[in-house]
Amino acid sequence: METIDIKNLNIEKASEMLRDGKITSVSLVEACLKNITERNGELNAILEVFSDALDEAKKADEMIARGEGDKLTGIPMVFKDNIFITGKKVSGGSKILENYTASYDAFVIEKLKKSGAVFIGRANMDEFAMGSSNETSAYGPVKNPLDITRVPGGSSGGSVASVAAGFCLGALGTDTGGSIRQPASFCGLVGMKPTYGGVSRRGTIAMSSSLDQIGPITKTVEDAKIIFDIISGQDKMDATSIKLPDTPTEISLAGIKIGIPRDWLKEGIDADVMENFNASVEKLKNLGYEIVDIDLPYAKYSLAVYYILMPAEVSTNLSRLDGIRYGNRVEGENIFDTYKKSRSAGFGMETRRRIILGSYVLSHGYYDAYYNKAWKVRHAIEKEFEDIFKKVDFVLTPTTPSVAFKFGAKKDPLQMYLSDIFTVPANIAGIPSLSVPSGFSAEGLPYGVQFMAPLCADEKLFAISLELEENI
Ligand code: GLN
Repeated sequence: METIDIKNLNIEKASEMLRDGKITSVSLVEACLKNITERNGELNAILEVFSDALDEAKKADEMIARGEGDKLTGIPMVFKDNIFITGKKVSGGSKILENYTASYDAFVIEKLKKSGAVFIGRANMDEFAMGSSNETSAYGPVKNPLDITRVPGGSSGGSVASVAAGFCLGALGTDTGGSIRQPASFCGLVGMKPTYGGVSRRGTIAMSSSLDQIGPITKTVEDAKIIFDIISGQDKMDATSIKLPDTPTEISLAGIKIGIPRDWLKEGIDADVMENFNASVEKLKNLGYEIVDIDLPYAKYSLAVYYILMPAEVSTNLSRLDGIRYGNRVEGENIFDTYKKSRSAGFGMETRRRIILGSYVLSHGYYDAYYNKAWKVRHAIEKEFEDIFKKVDFVLTPTTPSVAFKFGAKKDPLQMYLSDIFTVPANIAGIPSLSVPSGFSAEGLPYGVQFMAPLCADEKLFAISLELEENI
């Protein structure tokens, strides 16, 4: 048996080694658990290590011995704390659901159990997926494994830090406005947000239902594709789920045009990020792809639209957490007092801010001025992407306007919200998007660039991302 260095291993390679009998799933899981024991105290990425992980690994080894399973059989994975696994706690990073136990499996979990992937644990996250730095978790911040004075990004920071620190080989996160891609970029990993509906949302704690998507976080594009191929698929029990087109055997990238929305890149981006981005564009040019400057004037308003529609949906989705139907209860003098006390004790500051914002934009007097207006702009943005994809095959931007920042650096919520300026448009338009690592700063901090593709062109998105990854 070979010794296992999880940090330098990926899913593709580990899967091959498992099939060839060079390693076992048990040994893989043991290596992950060792890394967790050594470093999770410092990073706070994993909230709970599942006690049955080694038993599951044994079962996976038996599957492999019988010649069953697929590329994820025996592969150790970690899940954001908003994805349901029967019998396991799921808190959404919040105190209000501290001891809540999932009573069913999420669709993606059903799929992964069938594959025989090994579930290592539940990953820390910003409270109810609201945040860009993992500082809003009720269970304390997650640290960036590459530099512990910096944030790992959010809200899937625990999932991302777990992959980067060798606690697992792949993770699932959720992306409502960038929460997979932004932290992946901050930690030098690949993060993918599928086409809206391409992966079922059944069994995820909803943040903003019209924007949320579950997606993979991995070291390589190929690994992300391996997970995506297994977790995607139509689900009768999610009304917004769709069947994506079958993977063509050969995806041609001949004659591809890549659009750069220069009007987004004029301000608010660090100079070194821009330099790195321009270098990636040059590489694509040298590979023979045509680079075209484009304008996306409506998409510039994505963040404004997001901060109206998202809080509206958040305030609605979180209304069920009242201490009666769901969530920890703090007894009051009457039912309203109980609601008030339970919610005040259970929710953190950022969650409250968004509930208040959401209730405001949905209130009788302002509904038309804000909520309805934002939907109109959203439709204009969707149409704008639809039109631009008649002219170019992909849109490329930096994933984030800066590298991973220090803890406490963005105390002003508006500053924090701006870290999602490039990732939010894909959620607004429902299109797939993937962040690829694109090098390191002088201080050794990772950069990332993000491709956006037309609706349902997820497979093509993987193909172009692979091209860049191989040539970066
Ligand atoms: N950082 C964004 C927010 O705070 C996005 C969150 C997400 O994608 N879940 O809302």
